[in-house]
Amino acid sequence: MKLSWCSIISMLTILLLTGCDQAATSGVPSALASVSPVDSPVQTFAPKPFDNGVLPTNNTSTSTPIKEPIGFEIGSPKEEAVVSDEKKQTKKSVIKPIYSVGKGQVAITIDDGPTKYTEELLKVLKEQNIHVTFFFIGQNAAAFPQSVTEAVYEGHEIGYHSDTHPHMSQMTYDAQENEFNSGLNKLIKFDKHPVTLFRPPYGAYNNDTKLVTEEHLMQMVLWNEDPKDWATTDPSKIVKSVLAQVQSGSIIVMHDHPSTIAALPDIIKGIRKKGYTLVTVPH
Ligand SMILES: [Zn+2]
Repeated sequence: MKLSWCSIISMLTILLLTGCDQAATSGVPSALASVSPVDSPVQTFAPKPFDNGVLPTNNTSTSTPIKEPIGFEIGSPKEEAVVSDEKKQTKKSVIKPIYSVGKGQVAITIDDGPTKYTEELLKVLKEQNIHVTFFFIGQNAAAFPQSVTEAVYEGHEIGYHSDTHPHMSQMTYDAQENEFNSGLNKLIKFDKHPVTLFRPPYGAYNNDTKLVTEEHLMQMVLWNEDPKDWATTDPSKIVKSVLAQVQSGSIIVMHDHPSTIAALPDIIKGIRKKGYTLVTVPH
């Protein structure tokens, strides 16, 4: 009996130890697994526009692996098919989105701010003696009011870029209107001039988006040059990409994040060297 108890105790000990080992080893990969997406290039950029505690309220679609950064304008602007909805408006909007500026002109537009980087961005723009067009997100304006105030004070053009950065073309008319109003209310109080320019997130819109824009007596602004500044942390690559594409009339879409800010002095100098005049988007 004594021997048997001993063997039982030994076996239990072995089982316990093995169990612990398994728990310890299985703990490592799971910890790594939860860390590795953050280290991947895509995920590094994903939270940038919202990484200051300002999370999109409808950001529930990110449970699947993220292939592309959230919040940045990706690819060419396009009119997407409207989702079928009984509340869909039948009226046809007459708005024609703006894709370009005048001959010999180039407009730099900065989306998704303000962020914790905007103060630095404004400093760089001031040093380069340039005004840009910002497309601010409503909830970010509420989170960084000082940056909006400063951008207005410095004479930059303030455009609107939704409240929470959703795919508006996938929303009903009513939801689009609510989204539009809630963010705009957070932004208009900063500027004594009316905010008249709207850029739909991802450049995705439909007739309802145009109708909502039109009802607010605003213009829809897209772009014709996308250097994909969100896809790299290397400022020199952003400079190269912008200057390789820039031409008369370019509206360049860029974003409020560190590598773009670092790239801007050379971008601005390069555009001026090509003989183009830097302007804000006319309204
Ligand atoms: Zn955006």
